[in-house]
Amino acid sequence: MRIGDKVQISAQAMAVKAIFPERPGDEVVEEIREFVKAGNDPHNWRGHTHTKPPVGARITYIGDLDLDPNRASPCPCCSPGRAKFYHRGMIAYFPDEHVIRIIGPDCFKTLNPEGHEAAMKHYEIEQKRRKEVEYLLNNLPAAGQLEQALEKAIEVADAIDTVRNRISDGSLEDVLGVDLPALIGSGTLRVTTEFEETYVDSSGKTNTRKGYQDEKFGQIAGTVMVKKNTSRFVNKLKAVLDAVRQLPKPSAAKLKEEIEKLDDVTRVHTARLLGNSLNTSESLWEAMDDARSFLSPNNLATINGWGRHPGSPAQIEVRREGADIVMARRGYQGRRIRLPQAFDKVLERLPKLGVE
Ligand SMILES: [Zn+2]
Repeated sequence: MRIGDKVQISAQAMAVKAIFPERPGDEVVEEIREFVKAGNDPHNWRGHTHTKPPVGARITYIGDLDLDPNRASPCPCCSPGRAKFYHRGMIAYFPDEHVIRIIGPDCFKTLNPEGHEAAMKHYEIEQKRRKEVEYLLNNLPAAGQLEQALEKAIEVADAIDTVRNRISDGSLEDVLGVDLPALIGSGTLRVTTEFEETYVDSSGKTNTRKGYQDEKFGQIAGTVMVKKNTSRFVNKLKAVLDAVRQLPKPSAAKLKEEIEKLDDVTRVHTARLLGNSLNTSESLWEAMDDARSFLSPNNLATINGWGRHPGSPAQIEVRREGADIVMARRGYQGRRIRLPQAFDKVLERLPKLGVE
């Protein structure tokens, strides 16, 4: 039924079911959701009382549910015989009567505005807490894997830093005879090319002359390797590792208990720390892989093609020879840089977190 449609209410639904002397637990909310999901109408659920709550009644919201717009539900508060709501119906517990009513989202407001406001506020705090606990239950177990991945990445970060220092410390510019960061730092390699153009001179004669133009030769990755004074990967990595080490890492058996025990501030802080640490790690992984790709075969081929181009501002070459890279002016010996063993190591896979 659509909103406004007449609904036949059974005597069973109208009967007062004072069967909840205590606040019902999650299993009751779950039961209602399952009942509705199976295609039943909320007001036919075995525990629903379809009578109007007394004015000023106390209320506790224990759950909410969304219905199909074509299956709108009547509301015992304000519209017992006609479909009234489908979006965010509230499962409400009435502690004085020991009953549950499934009602429209704002319906109780008219009967007890302050009670409604307070109950809604309380419900939202509870829901937020529930989500945070859920998030940590799902994701906190990944903290151990994240810590391990970071620990193993230290030597890789250190290796990249070492190579980067040798490439970007400035002394290489004397060897190469060019200002490398200025020429390739942007990632775009440029060359000057010659062309011939025809023109008509003052006497009306057609002539040709040479012209020069600046042209893009290619694009390279990992130029962070040639930039001066960039912060060390290993420092960034250790900062994240320190944060991850602060995270609680309960055993699977104690996980729920430990998470439930966290106070509000710590719980929020823990969730944030976990999420941020993983984000930072992902960016670091990307940045380190990008830095290493400076020495990838493709990249070197592009650099060397550019270095051989007659219009290139830098006649240089970069070769990889086993564990070394050699950077030189073309035809010169250049500089040999030994790559630490960990330089090429594949980084551990980072855990994936579920959404909050
Ligand atoms: Zn209502």
